[in-house]
Amino acid sequence: MGVQDTGCLRNVPAGYGLIRELNGSCRYFPDNQFVSANFRMKEFNPSGVRPYGVMRKLVNQLQVMRNALGVPIIITSAYRSGSTHASGLAVDIVVPRKSFIQLAQAAYNAGFRRIEVVKRAGTSYSNTMSFGGHVHVDVYDGSGISTSGTIYDCPTCSSRPCYPWYAFGVSGSWWATSQPNTFSQLMANLRADRGNTGYRGC
Ligand SMILES: [Zn+2]
Repeated sequence: MGVQDTGCLRNVPAGYGLIRELNGSCRYFPDNQFVSANFRMKEFNPSGVRPYGVMRKLVNQLQVMRNALGVPIIITSAYRSGSTHASGLAVDIVVPRKSFIQLAQAAYNAGFRRIEVVKRAGTSYSNTMSFGGHVHVDVYDGSGISTSGTIYDCPTCSSRPCYPWYAFGVSGSWWATSQPNTFSQLMANLRADRGNTGYRGC
């Protein structure tokens, strides 16, 4: 499974970011260029990391969410060290005009199958996100394969379409991401303001 890294993250030009396209190819975009209808390349680098890059699947699904919500999505964390963020597979987002519950549903509808909902203490998941907190959404395929510098092209979730993703990051670090709830259990926990507000599935 997978083919060797083509090294494109190491070769990102100054002032550019990288997108791993659905066919596995690498494309470099100037920081200010739009990479989808509503998102610029640099929005996937709020930490200012160099070099940086993300998977096209992540960009596409975020744009689907943006279209459905009809209001801006603020990316507070994207490419950085640690967990699936380090492989360009994840973003943390805030939508001040929507509630945590609305965002979790929109993420699921857009195809995300690894979701974590983190509210700020003292607020409710029914409240809008203007109170703080974030939602982590993630296109990691759940394969458990973690060798840095390799392209993986087939997720182990057989119901999901194949897409290439690239292990930029830290071996094994993504096990901590999301709890094995069903999506309906996640939504029930959010509505009841209970803990355990992650989801991972196919
Ligand atoms: Zn995150």
